[in-house]
Amino acid sequence: MSIRVFLALLIAFSLAAIFSLSFFALGLIALLPGGTSAANISAFIEGFPIPVEILTFISISIPIAFAFYLGLVHLIVRPLETIRRAMEVFAKDGKHVELPPLEGVPSEIREFAQVWNDFAGRVEAAHSRDMETSRVKSDFISTAAHQLRTPLTGIRWALEALEKEQLTESQQLLIKSAVGKSHDLVAIVGTLLDISSIESGKYAYKFAESDIQKLIGAVATDFAPAAFQAKVGFRYEPGPEPLFVQIDSERIKWVLNNLIENAIRYTPEGGNVRITSVRMQDRVVVQVHDTGIGIPQQDRNNIFERFYRAGNAITKQNQGNGLGLYIARTIVKDHKGELTFASNQEGVGTTFTLSLPSAR
Ligand code: ADP
Repeated sequence: MSIRVFLALLIAFSLAAIFSLSFFALGLIALLPGGTSAANISAFIEGFPIPVEILTFISISIPIAFAFYLGLVHLIVRPLETIRRAMEVFAKDGKHVELPPLEGVPSEIREFAQVWNDFAGRVEAAHSRDMETSRVKSDFISTAAHQLRTPLTGIRWALEALEKEQLTESQQLLIKSAVGKSHDLVAIVGTLLDISSIESGKYAYKFAESDIQKLIGAVATDFAPAAFQAKVGFRYEPGPEPLFVQIDSERIKWVLNNLIENAIRYTPEGGNVRITSVRMQDRVVVQVHDTGIGIPQQDRNNIFERFYRAGNAITKQNQGNGLGLYIARTIVKDHKGELTFASNQEGVGTTFTLSLPSAR
């Protein structure tokens, strides 16, 4: 049955109810003691304790409203609830619960359920394909990185040993540059291994309560010489009290390193980098502000993607692989935290905000 047919039946039922009630009333009148004369009927109506208009209204509207309610619940509300529950499960866990064939409900709702089954089924299939591709990619990266690590370490040791030999000035320069590059390569391979272990959920975090301000202070001290060398003003403004969080200090240190290194790297000479940390209700909020090149509008949706680098960053700095923020956000998510950024127009600067649940 369709909703239109249901409404037509309901109107027919209402009219039938009105007619039958009228006949019933006439029947009752016929039973009046004293006959059915007009004078007797009006005397009876006037003497009746409840006004006759109210009586008529109640006797007609109650059965109609009740029938309307039952029909509405059975034909529309219950099937819609079933569909809503399936949608909720899908939205929450990404799991598609196939809706049963909804027998006896309006055709519009049945068709809606079929369309939903179709849509959710396709999305689920596409999602599993994506997951599989991503797993294969991760496996590949992990295997390649493992394979590369051993020979690369060997090359680095050989070059370091060679550096200590008696060499001419130009040979020394060449070896020094090769040692530098081999260090970069080992670092990239290390990052790839980090990614695959974090992505596959195999990374065992060592959570412990610690004062994040101490950690930021130590990281900031490490970066002060780099900022000085880059001629970038640099300061850390801690909050008035310790800020305790449940973290894997090594991993969060990695995140802070990445944010601060980026801030210095993407800020031209004469600019400023400022770090702040405060408590905001039940969160601890750390911000790294810079007056650097900013993140252009068209790149903002992709900045946390693997290997993504904004055009202005590539022009300013050829060093960088676009993996840092991706790993940083994954680590922060694993801490039930958030990593976001705000950037005005190009050249105005960027603020990265790390927010973690407060432990006390
Ligand atoms: P990398 O810095 O190695 O390129 P990241 O993942 O750390 O990789 O950063 C990704 C991209 O985000 C950068 O290439 C750059 O385009 C942008 N970015 C990150 N931090 C900043 C910043 N403080 N100012 C401007 N752009 C930034």
